[in-house]
Amino acid sequence: MVERPDILIAVAKQAGASDARFVVPEKLVVDENFAAYCKEPGCPNYGLSLSCPPHVSGPRVMREWLAETEYALAVKMEVPKSVLHSVERLEVMRLLHEIVAEVEHKAVSLGFQQSKSFAGGSCKVLFCGEHGNCQTLSGKQQCRNPRSARPSMSGFGVDVASMMKMAGWDSRPLADSEGEDDAMSWVAGLVLVCL
Ligand code: SF4
Repeated sequence: MVERPDILIAVAKQAGASDARFVVPEKLVVDENFAAYCKEPGCPNYGLSLSCPPHVSGPRVMREWLAETEYALAVKMEVPKSVLHSVERLEVMRLLHEIVAEVEHKAVSLGFQQSKSFAGGSCKVLFCGEHGNCQTLSGKQQCRNPRSARPSMSGFGVDVASMMKMAGWDSRPLADSEGEDDAMSWVAGLVLVCL
């Protein structure tokens, strides 16, 4: 096994993550039901970008990728609940995409050429909200934001709460968090470090 690139933790933190920890890729839980939630009860961005279901390869391929992953880095951003309930949420989620993409780029530069990263939320609303269409859906043009827009973990069925627990973080979802609106919550991403 190649040496673990611990520098990626610093890269994530420098880019804006509150914390980043390696988790065992084989132990990450992938569940078809999580990917199915994108369709039913449904996300308003379902089908609107090449990075969202039904246009992504989904849980089956995620399991294949995990089997080929050397190291998996869970990334967390701690954010006040009030921010996640406000329009500023879009900025936070954009930053989450940028952080995991930055770590992915660093992993590639270190020789982990097949590295991939995943965030949360649809890149359609986060990066292309002012555009009518996702530019890649036609199959004729490139993504407008190839350096930072990444697919969501949800569309690939990743059990985010389980990943949080594996990383040693509080995994309670926002709705279950206690306290007032200035209490902290979190958003999370994942980087698969692959040769
Ligand atoms: S063009 Fe926009 S909506 Fe389409 S994949 Fe890229 S960032 Fe996402």
